[in-house]
Amino acid sequence: MNAIQAIRGMNDVLPDAVSAWQHIERHVRTLLGAYGYEEIRPPLVERTELFRRSIGEVTDIVEKEMYTFDDRNGESLTLRPECTASVVRAAIEHGLLRTPGRRVWTMGPMFRYERPQKGRYRQFHQIDVEIFGIAAPSAEAELIVMTRRLWKALGLSGLSLELNSLGSRDIQARYRARLVEYFSARADALDADSSRRIETNPLRILDSKNPSMQALIEEAPRIIDEHDDDARAHLDQLLAMLDEAGVEYRVNPRLVRGLDYYTGTVFEWTTGELGAQGAVCGGGRYDNLVAEIGGPANPAIGFAIGLERLVALLDVQSVELPVAMPHAYLASAGPRASILAHAVAERLRDAVPELRLVVDAGHGSFKAKLKRADRSGARLALLLGEEEARNGRIAVKDLRARGPQSMVSIDDLAGHIVRNVFAE
Ligand code: ATP
Ligand code: MG
Repeated sequence: MNAIQAIRGMNDVLPDAVSAWQHIERHVRTLLGAYGYEEIRPPLVERTELFRRSIGEVTDIVEKEMYTFDDRNGESLTLRPECTASVVRAAIEHGLLRTPGRRVWTMGPMFRYERPQKGRYRQFHQIDVEIFGIAAPSAEAELIVMTRRLWKALGLSGLSLELNSLGSRDIQARYRARLVEYFSARADALDADSSRRIETNPLRILDSKNPSMQALIEEAPRIIDEHDDDARAHLDQLLAMLDEAGVEYRVNPRLVRGLDYYTGTVFEWTTGELGAQGAVCGGGRYDNLVAEIGGPANPAIGFAIGLERLVALLDVQSVELPVAMPHAYLASAGPRASILAHAVAERLRDAVPELRLVVDAGHGSFKAKLKRADRSGARLALLLGEEEARNGRIAVKDLRARGPQSMVSIDDLAGHIVRNVFAE
């Protein structure tokens, strides 16, 4: 029979790679907790309407990337392509917004029907962080210094920060008119997507990934030239906070991001070390979204980090990852010894809760078992034969040092392990 394979663009994270994922997850959990963020876990599936309304009808995501299907009741559902909308929906539904300054985060898979390539997958994972109820640029500054600290904690370097401000909906409306004028005058140079978007969503043209569009985009009017006093003051204050905190950044007037809900500040952390998929974190302010989803007016801001890209960067930068090898590997041979093995192992685990102990479950000679013990990376091999089992003893061999094996009484085994493995 032919073997069933995974779906294109949806990857297995195998044991060899998982230490990088756990490294990231561990640091994220600790760091976000330390900054006062609470974890939230919304479902992976939502009503399609939620994403259409928040991300915007005329965006790459909603137009061509969503996994949308009718359930058995004929209701249109979608696998989440991002999770800000879900977090906002949950926050409204469960009254989380009643506490101002609520900080939440979540982590998990997202789904987009994109063309799979390095750094771009159909199931990928994000860490998503949101702050509700803070209109001041202090919220932006907090998210930015926190991500800077995260890169450092992970052992990553060379990430650069770009930011821009999209201003209020009024500013966006004025800017939109300028863009329509600009792109209409150059209609011949537009690709098909962009031509269509002149009418529907001209801002999205700036987000085009098509290389042939880049020169035109580079020359387009800049949104910061449409800023009013409020928008200018907000951005200036944020930049002053970043200067004071020693954060390096570049203001990029072309940065617009791919979702419609942003208003005000948008930002991206990028690296030059991952080829075309260099954005590892993107976010911004979305002060109107809570009301647009049906909640009380509430300023909000957030970002999402792409985990696959962080994992790839850890690899490119050869960051050393802690690997948890077993401390000990217990192998038995003979009928009585095999029956005893798990009982001995459980006594050890009771006595030394931090012990990482693997019990050999295979057949074969002690020689074969010792080989498996060695391959497991364990420090000690614990060898339980029939004679040892009868005498209440076990042979202990240090796999990482030369020397004879020693006979230890099973009653003393926990103490022996603590002295030899944990005392160093
Ligand atoms: P890009 O410009 O690379 O398409 P995006 O602007 O669509 O990214 P967001 O929707 O803001 O990205 O998501 C935030 C982060 O999630 C991105 O910076 C990236 O690291 C990651 N990401 C987005 N789409 C994918 C994907 N298809 N595969 C892997 N990671 C992704
Ligand atoms: Mg994208």
